[in-house]
Amino acid sequence: MISSTFSDFKICKNVPTFTFGQGAFSSLGKFLEQRRSAEGRVAFYLDHFFLKDKQIFAALLPTRASDLVVYVDTTKEPSTHSVNALLDHSLSSLGVVPDVVVGIGGGSTLDVAKALSNLFRNPGRAEDYQGWDLLKSPGVFKIGVPTISGTGAEASRTCVMTNYEKRLKLGMNSEFTVFDHLILDPNLSETVPRDQYFFTGMDTYIHCLESLDGRFRNPVGDAFSREALRLCQEIYSAGEMQSVANREKLMVASYLGGCAIGFSFVGLVHPFSAALSVVLGIHHCVANCIVLSAMGEFYPQWVPNFSEMARQQGVLIPSGVTTGLSDDDWEGLYQATIVHEKPLANALGDNFRDTLTREKVRQIFSRM
Ligand code: NAD
Ligand code: ZN
Repeated sequence: MISSTFSDFKICKNVPTFTFGQGAFSSLGKFLEQRRSAEGRVAFYLDHFFLKDKQIFAALLPTRASDLVVYVDTTKEPSTHSVNALLDHSLSSLGVVPDVVVGIGGGSTLDVAKALSNLFRNPGRAEDYQGWDLLKSPGVFKIGVPTISGTGAEASRTCVMTNYEKRLKLGMNSEFTVFDHLILDPNLSETVPRDQYFFTGMDTYIHCLESLDGRFRNPVGDAFSREALRLCQEIYSAGEMQSVANREKLMVASYLGGCAIGFSFVGLVHPFSAALSVVLGIHHCVANCIVLSAMGEFYPQWVPNFSEMARQQGVLIPSGVTTGLSDDDWEGLYQATIVHEKPLANALGDNFRDTLTREKVRQIFSRM
């Protein structure tokens, strides 16, 4: 293990305030009233799942007539294109920059809300800010309301977007991307489908094991990771993972996992998973589970535990996803993996290319 040296000290920022517990969503209205000016507008971004119950859910939203409510299509994960399109739509509908942005949904919707908040106050397009510390100004005040737990997007300093031109999945990694306030209400995750609940929850488990297994460590990050892992093991190892008590625990684990990642790096799973997303369009959390299942040689302490939790919850991890690929796809998978130098070096050291040759990367993908 190498703990942080002075040259890589990062400023670690957490979400300053949050409301937690069953029914916490009802606090949104009061909170918004404190934040918005008399004429100020609020832009709400909701996962398109809530279109189903539009009447019921819209009635709960503390909106004024001049506010903007957008249902975000999360069939595909956010891309620089989709974020730019939402930016143009929002600005032309509102006519002004809103006072507050509210994101209500999973990692995809939360990331869209974070990206838009940043772009409302920084000139240019989404792709201009993919990378580390490129934003010049704080975004619009942003509130995150997760409705599915695991990615830690509610707590992290990034908002992930796929850039199809560059075959790159990368966020606006900046302290300005952190939400200003969170509402963590386990009642909102009651309707999540079973497999999705498992896959997304496991993102926290995977983030944390990658951090703890890495070379660049931070004692605060380690403490967050250990507690998030303990909670995941409790939730998935016995009984009904979607009970209200477990949904509440998973909200905590996800939040802690998101905090942990701000202090460290992921490892081998996320780069391979990003390649599955960029080249084959597989969603992040299920892609992580597919990759972890094939990583027994690198994570022998974790893979059996993970497989046992999937078995106990009766969740099948997809396989055969790399069958019948073209040479172009194999090359794309290699390139989209190897580009993630920081996490790969975190897992294997600066000479990670000695281990991850083209052949080795293909061999690992062939097991998926
Ligand atoms: P998601 O937002 O992509 O949603 C997954 C599915 O769950 C969608 O079909 C959605 O409609 C549905 N859903 C959400 N809430 C629901 C509810 N309450 N009831 C029923 N269905 C519901 O899911 P995710 O797995 O949370 O997020 C994945 C995204 O998060 C990826 O784009 C990934 O890159 C990103 N991510 C971001 C970070 C970060 O730090 N910013 C970290 C990890 C992953
Ligand atoms: Zn992840």
